[in-house]
Amino acid sequence: MTAVSIEKLSKNYGSLQALEAIDMEIGKGEFFALLGPNGAGKSTLINILAGLTRASSGRAAVLGYDVCRQWREARHRLGVVPQELAYDPFFTIRELLTLQSGYFGLGRENRGWIDELLVALGLEEKAETTMNHLSGGMKRRVLIAQALVHRPPVVILDEPTAGVDVALRRQLWDFIRGLNSRGHTIILTTHYLEEAETMCERIAILNHGRLAALAPRSELLRRSQWRRLRLQLVDGDPGCLPEALLAKRESAPPGELVLRLHRERDPLGAVLAELDRCGLRFSDLKIQEPGLTEIYSELTAD
Ligand code: ADP
Ligand code: MG
Repeated sequence: MTAVSIEKLSKNYGSLQALEAIDMEIGKGEFFALLGPNGAGKSTLINILAGLTRASSGRAAVLGYDVCRQWREARHRLGVVPQELAYDPFFTIRELLTLQSGYFGLGRENRGWIDELLVALGLEEKAETTMNHLSGGMKRRVLIAQALVHRPPVVILDEPTAGVDVALRRQLWDFIRGLNSRGHTIILTTHYLEEAETMCERIAILNHGRLAALAPRSELLRRSQWRRLRLQLVDGDPGCLPEALLAKRESAPPGELVLRLHRERDPLGAVLAELDRCGLRFSDLKIQEPGLTEIYSELTAD
């Protein structure tokens, strides 16, 4: 069974096409990354799943429940941490969480879980503090607690670590990883590509409302046609290289030569022979395979 299924989903805001015929299936228990530059349509997609925005066409379902026709069932199974910090400043954390619980028809019986959430997110000492007295990082944690108050099996986090310092980011990732290991499906958008690279099994990249890629991380990493050859020079002047190779040169620290090479069009043997012909001697040689950052840049370049 799939956690989230999206079929031919489109969204127009007037003449702007924010999403264009998106197809996507996310399996139960997956840790899924939704990446893309600002304006790519990530939040629009998430808002459609959460029932906050209506799709122009196509359909979306959470655990088999259509987000329009069966919105109540779908919404009960979904927890969304919104990108924007929106909250009522005069409620305490505990009041906010109790209120949110009520929206899902949960009362006193949910108190224990709220306490657990407060502890897990390091909020227990602030439980009786009003939102306007909290730091940005604390508010972010409250939004996460709010999204989890009804124990949704599918959790979507829209840039949960934007503007969050390194220590708190680590804590949040540990917490989210814990949720995933307890069986929750996690879908997240982030600008921190290294984190998507280390944590997510599958990655979707949106660009201008279209799906630029949807693949397991390892497959995506193999997809790039480019890699780097990094040499520690001991003798010779790289300036003497032929024009064609100089065009592939990238900036590097003194004493190093870095060439960006195409997997097929720049055979390694030929490149090394050329270096030799120009009298370049080197003490060390490394091939650097591309990371998610490079592939992301290739796929989202205009
Ligand atoms: P992302 O979250 O990937 O940055 P969004 O989904 O927020 O992208 O936005 C996608 C596009 O839709 C952008 O061009 C944005 O300006 C536009 N957009 C988003 N929400 C609205 C709206 N309510 N009305 C009009 N345009 C919108
Ligand atoms: Mg967004």
